[in-house]
Amino acid sequence: MTTQAPPADMAPGAPSQDPFVADRLAMVAEQIAARGVTDARVLAAMREVPRHLFVPDGMRDNAYADGPLPIGHEQTISQPYIVALMTALARTTPTDIVLEVGTGSGYQAAVLSRLVARVCSIEILEPLARSAEALLRRLGYTNIEVRHGDGYQGWPEDAPFDVILVTAAPESVPAALVAQLKPGGRMVIPVGPVSRVQDLLLIEKDRSGATTSRSVIPVRFVPMVKTSR
Ligand code: SAH
Repeated sequence: MTTQAPPADMAPGAPSQDPFVADRLAMVAEQIAARGVTDARVLAAMREVPRHLFVPDGMRDNAYADGPLPIGHEQTISQPYIVALMTALARTTPTDIVLEVGTGSGYQAAVLSRLVARVCSIEILEPLARSAEALLRRLGYTNIEVRHGDGYQGWPEDAPFDVILVTAAPESVPAALVAQLKPGGRMVIPVGPVSRVQDLLLIEKDRSGATTSRSVIPVRFVPMVKTSR
């Protein structure tokens, strides 16, 4: 891969000449804040990350619409509201280390990266892992590491994590991910049958290591695929 410095106006936090600023502010106000996600840090991150750069070229004009969009390989970038809701449920702090399962376009990782110390993101489809990694590097996101691999195994080398956010749906909560959650940590994960509606779960591990789980809303994610082994 060639390395290339990000254009100054694209680096995170740089002043922007971005033609989609008004669309993005409207997205946050109308789709996210209006539906009850009020965490100021999350809203600020959603106002900052240029979602239109994470969708395919021909779809830029739809990037701020109220729904998921295809990103190739039969995968999707999640609806903005769901990205914001999952991020808010994770109750991040600036020192957190986060694991994301299902890098996809890299958008959710970029949003998380504005709120925490470091994001480890794992993606099972190698072309998506490579393109997200290249895009995130080009845009100047330096605290995200992308890995091609199977999220059912988690990311043992950097575990345990303060937050684990899963953006593909397994049929049950993967044991390795629970094991890699820190005491005091939060996991946000859609769980349920393939190609049906799933439950978005917030799983919390207390200081003693016991977990509690609560169902937040019904959601529809692509399945978290199992590798044959
Ligand atoms: N978070 C992404 C959207 C994810 S779509 C974004 O912001 O764009 C779900 C992604 O999970 C897909 O890219 C899919 O390939 C990936 N995925 C599915 N099963 C997986 C597994 N077992 N391990 C890692 N990634 C997986």
